[in-house]
Amino acid sequence: MRAMLLSAPRTSLQESALPTPSPGPDQLLIRVRYCGVCRTDLHVVDGELKDAKLPLVPGHEVVGTVVAKGEHVSDFAVGDRVGVPWLGWTCGRCSYCRSGRENLCDNARFTGYTLDGGYAEYSVADRRYCFRLPAEYPDAEAAPLLCAGLIGYRSLVMAGDAQRLGIYGFGAAAHIVTQIARHQGREIFAFTRPGDEPGQEFARQLGAQWAGPSDAKPPTELNAAIVFAPVGALLPVALAAVAKGGIVVCAGIHMSDIPAFPYHLLWGERAVRSVANLTRQDGEEFLQLAPKVPIRTTIQVFPLRQANEALGRLRAGQVHGAAVLAID
Ligand SMILES: [Zn+2]
Ligand SMILES: [Zn+2]
Repeated sequence: MRAMLLSAPRTSLQESALPTPSPGPDQLLIRVRYCGVCRTDLHVVDGELKDAKLPLVPGHEVVGTVVAKGEHVSDFAVGDRVGVPWLGWTCGRCSYCRSGRENLCDNARFTGYTLDGGYAEYSVADRRYCFRLPAEYPDAEAAPLLCAGLIGYRSLVMAGDAQRLGIYGFGAAAHIVTQIARHQGREIFAFTRPGDEPGQEFARQLGAQWAGPSDAKPPTELNAAIVFAPVGALLPVALAAVAKGGIVVCAGIHMSDIPAFPYHLLWGERAVRSVANLTRQDGEEFLQLAPKVPIRTTIQVFPLRQANEALGRLRAGQVHGAAVLAID
């Protein structure tokens, strides 16, 4: 099995030959076709997320075909298409699991972080956390739905019914969230890195009412904002842009430190919250919604051996839409 393997944090990925794993009783062995490249992969490779499994195969937007299955698996057959998301396993016993909040499970395992992921020819996954993907989407276009889509959707739900929604950081998740929000009749105000005019144009093409640099004031007060960029300094900026009663949702798994800010930015019942991971319920809801919008993913495909190149482009903000690795 060829895989892009991370053997120590803060290094690049190395191509490596691994034995093909065999599936456990509840697992699927999957021939990976495409795997999305997410900003979280960068945080893992850069060592910003602690306690990654090492050595590790990154990647948590896995689209592939079932080639073998464990003895307890009856809901997937060999040959079925399957999607593997970030949430790879939960304990089912902790207080979070038992209260419908498995995304917060104390013992959760995550694909491409504490479990091997999809930057590889083969991957194993627990079938209870896998999704069937809407038939409308070819494999490559489906990959970004599995994290950018799912967690973007959860972030949008957390933003409530805000009519004027700001989005800071216009990457893979933002390009999907914008389409859902427009479908719901909301107005999107997109903020990109200063100087990223192509990114602003991309946002306008997707229906953003306004797009500009993150240091600009929006033309009108926002009702909520989602911060996808891992930049803590954007949090007080976003708070300053939302109206009284508005919420700022931090959607990334990692963020640089948030600078001190005056209390009046939070005053007026403004709120700040983070979004962590996903539940299977989020996945089911989102994957039903996606073809109805219909969400169309803009992708840039790289071969597996160019995984480092794909991560580098993502780091530099040079990917419009989502980067996807083709595993061939
Ligand atoms: Zn749990
Ligand atoms: Zn992700």
